[in-house]
Amino acid sequence: MKLTSIVKEVSNEDHSLFAFRSEIDPDFEVFIIYPENERYREMKIMFEQWGSAFIDLSEKQIFIDGKEVNKKWFTNNHLIFQQAHEIAHSVLKHDSDFDEDQEAEADFVAIQICKARGKYKAATLGNKQFIKRNGIEYKEYKFSKRAGLLLQEYIL
Ligand SMILES: [Zn+2]
Repeated sequence: MKLTSIVKEVSNEDHSLFAFRSEIDPDFEVFIIYPENERYREMKIMFEQWGSAFIDLSEKQIFIDGKEVNKKWFTNNHLIFQQAHEIAHSVLKHDSDFDEDQEAEADFVAIQICKARGKYKAATLGNKQFIKRNGIEYKEYKFSKRAGLLLQEYIL
């Protein structure tokens, strides 16, 4: 099922859906779906399965749970890092069922993407939450040669 068929059916004038091109990479579209959205219940199942942000790799579309965005601690840096993380899965050519190693790799590459795009606060956030998310300190993480090459290709 195409996920945009869900979100695009909703009238675009309400505030329950926010759609924009990613500031990290305009090739990617971002959709924030809030609980007030009439199709939220369907989206919620996917957020529960894939996390509060996930990407449709073939469509280059990122879906973010508005319930998370509404939380007090959530900042624009979280939003930027989430986008960078999802874009990193695409840069790294991961398949859609990501394992733990791929999540750590995506976090690592997301930090590099944030730095390359001048989003230093988002990069710092990614660095700080790295150990909690991946069980290893960012500075101790060893990335593969493959990841390094794909990243270089993307950033240059
Ligand atoms: Zn991920």
